[in-house]
Amino acid sequence: MTNEELQQYVEQLSLDVFALPFRHVALFNERLRTTGGRYFLTDHHLDFNRSHLGDLNTFRGIVIHELCHYHLHLRGMGHRHQDQDFKEWLQRYGGLRYSPRLEEAEKKNHFYECEKCGTLYRRKRKMNPERYRCGRCRGKIFYKSS
Ligand SMILES: [Zn+2]
Ligand SMILES: [Zn+2]
Repeated sequence: MTNEELQQYVEQLSLDVFALPFRHVALFNERLRTTGGRYFLTDHHLDFNRSHLGDLNTFRGIVIHELCHYHLHLRGMGHRHQDQDFKEWLQRYGGLRYSPRLEEAEKKNHFYECEKCGTLYRRKRKMNPERYRCGRCRGKIFYKSS
């Protein structure tokens, strides 16, 4: 999904779910790591985490969550997580309370194995095995699984 497609998706979802137009900018932010999305109070744009796209249902819930912040804030209603308005809107419109997938994604491990001695390495992030050697025998390392 490109940024333009994301923009269209958010605009359409806003109309379908809230019957309200989304008139600002929606973008993928590659640096978002701990959240699925973010609403900016200053310029009203939305950032989204691309890593949630694998599960469109979850992604939809995240977009609705951010749109709740957006529409409530623009209407001068309680737009923060602890506000009653926000809690009601999340329920009414089917927004995700948290980003469950992200926690999974962060806990997900990648396994690498040494060709020579079979030592298994676990990494939180994907890395290029060509650039590393086994810490035990200096053998080559290959990607095993996640
Ligand atoms: Zn939020
Ligand atoms: Zn080794």
